[in-house]
Amino acid sequence: MTIDSHVHLFFEGSDPEEFFIGCAQAGVTIFGKDKPKEDHQDARQLYEQQMDILSDKDGSRLIREMDKANIDKAILLPLDFWLKYPKAEYTGISIKKKNEIYASVVETYPDRFKTYFGIDPRRKDARKLLDLAMKKWQPVGLKIHPTAGFYPDDPICYPLYELAMEYDLPILIHSGQEPAPMEAKWSHPMYIDTIAADFPEATIIVAHCGHGWWRQTLDLAIMKPNMYVDFSGWQPLFNINPDYFWEPLRFAIDTLGPWRVLFGSDGSMLDVFLSPKKWAKAVSHPSKTTEIKFSEREIDIFTQKAAKKLYNI
Ligand SMILES: [Zn+2]
Repeated sequence: MTIDSHVHLFFEGSDPEEFFIGCAQAGVTIFGKDKPKEDHQDARQLYEQQMDILSDKDGSRLIREMDKANIDKAILLPLDFWLKYPKAEYTGISIKKKNEIYASVVETYPDRFKTYFGIDPRRKDARKLLDLAMKKWQPVGLKIHPTAGFYPDDPICYPLYELAMEYDLPILIHSGQEPAPMEAKWSHPMYIDTIAADFPEATIIVAHCGHGWWRQTLDLAIMKPNMYVDFSGWQPLFNINPDYFWEPLRFAIDTLGPWRVLFGSDGSMLDVFLSPKKWAKAVSHPSKTTEIKFSEREIDIFTQKAAKKLYNI
């Protein structure tokens, strides 16, 4: 069994177009790094190609990819970037509707998915909407994406966290690199450390292990037993050199132990770098791509048991 602890659903109107273009720009830059900038693929062209492939409002594409990859279950994470673009909301769907779409996907595939509730904590109705969601479809956590322009330890966020605590929900917070026009600075792990300190009973998951801030993330998490990390979104670095992924993972398991370290894909946006099938296979068989040693037990806990325990699956 494999559990993917970090996936999203994208479809027309799910997120601001500027965000999609930013992701495509990052993609063509990484793909074209060996060529001068003017020889890179056009970002809008990649965006349009990818939207045709990735668009997945009902979760059926994700299920097909999971089946190919032998991924049994996935944790869905709704994103809320709209406050970065207040005007764009009129061209997209409301955050309430978006969370409802995620819930309906879980309803269609109850054995395959669980969903978080995702919202920008600056929204005035954030608490009310989380409360409503808990009563209607029981999300399994609260997802926060600070790169839209707020520090996660800003007091404005705390009423929402307090409600999440009442429901005993883990809080998963994006940390690390993010394509323009989003800004990574808001998601530095030191701001997440504050939340772990203020809510010692809460499980706080630092998504992507903070990417390039992985050493800082792990250094902070060593001291805070309620801080977890996920290793989603590492496929581009893995492609460049597998040890750019394996070394941080080894360090994470050595310092936190295996039970606070979760496997994830950050699909479907990252599928263009490595399919879920190839990614799941690669992490399940370290010796095929690295000299760094992992025990079978460690990989088993990383790829499924840690998530099983956390989400009571
Ligand atoms: Zn993500």
